[in-house]
Amino acid sequence: MASVTRITPNLVRVVATGELDGWNDGGPGAHFKVFVPAADDGTVMRTYTVRAFDRTEGRLTIDFGLHADGPMTKWARSAAVGDRFAVAGEARPGYAPSDGARWCVLFADHCALPAVASVLESLPSGMEAIVFVEVTDAADATELKSAAEVSAAWPVESGRPCAELVAAAGNVVLPDGPGDVWIGCEAGAMRDIRRHVLGELGLPRAALHSRAYWKQDVENHSDHDTGSDEG
Ligand SMILES: Cc1cc2nc3c(=O)[nH]c(=O)nc-3n(C[C@H](O)[C@H](O)[C@H](O)COP(=O)(O)OP(=O)(O)OC[C@H]3O[C@@H](n4cnc5c(N)ncnc54)[C@H](O)[C@@H]3O)c2cc1C
Repeated sequence: MASVTRITPNLVRVVATGELDGWNDGGPGAHFKVFVPAADDGTVMRTYTVRAFDRTEGRLTIDFGLHADGPMTKWARSAAVGDRFAVAGEARPGYAPSDGARWCVLFADHCALPAVASVLESLPSGMEAIVFVEVTDAADATELKSAAEVSAAWPVESGRPCAELVAAAGNVVLPDGPGDVWIGCEAGAMRDIRRHVLGELGLPRAALHSRAYWKQDVENHSDHDTGSDEG
């Protein structure tokens, strides 16, 4: 690793160089697998977001959220320059606005903040982005760069993770005209927000992009969980 920086109290930024020639970064908010050594001589694999990829320099940036005590979080807590890790295959695409979308509303918790930051950097001017990011600590809010017109709220976790995000969804007013809703957070909260925007707010299903980034009390929850099992 070329650098390791604690950018906020609960976010560690790792910049890595290595055999990344021709690597496909998957575009804004894409995800891929990270492999690190585990305590028992094995390997731990978890899903992370391409926060940035500099193709010319071959530099990959990943932001690791610190939470609970999972093996990847433990690794990130003590990561140091020179440590090695592996990435698998190509990154899977993240989010790009639907054709004709004039706005997007993004709901994220701390571990989906890297995806939100990456997506915002890709949005065109003239688009409106309304962003809610639930953080562990008020100091975990980061600068968000975008050509779009962004309004961001940073509710701080209080008790149950993502409860503040569900509450924010309950109060949100979607802008007029065509637009998308993107959700990246804990699996149960993702389903709560999904039900609300499809049901009460009447968002067309094609305009909804939801994914569980983790699940309470589950290790390495599937990165295929979009909540669509609930219809
Ligand atoms: C598409 C996608 C992209 C992702 N991108 C990122 C990213 O860029 N940065 C990032 O930090 N994370 C990201 N995640 C989330 C990350 O993969 C999970 O948080 C992962 O479970 C962490 O591994 P672990 O070894 O620390 O914990 P695990 O061993 O998987 O879980 C141990 C315990 O920790 C708890 N836990 C797990 N994750 C969290 C969490 N996020 N918050 C609170 N408690 C948790 C669980 O309840 C579990 O019981 C992404 C997930 C997906 C699906």
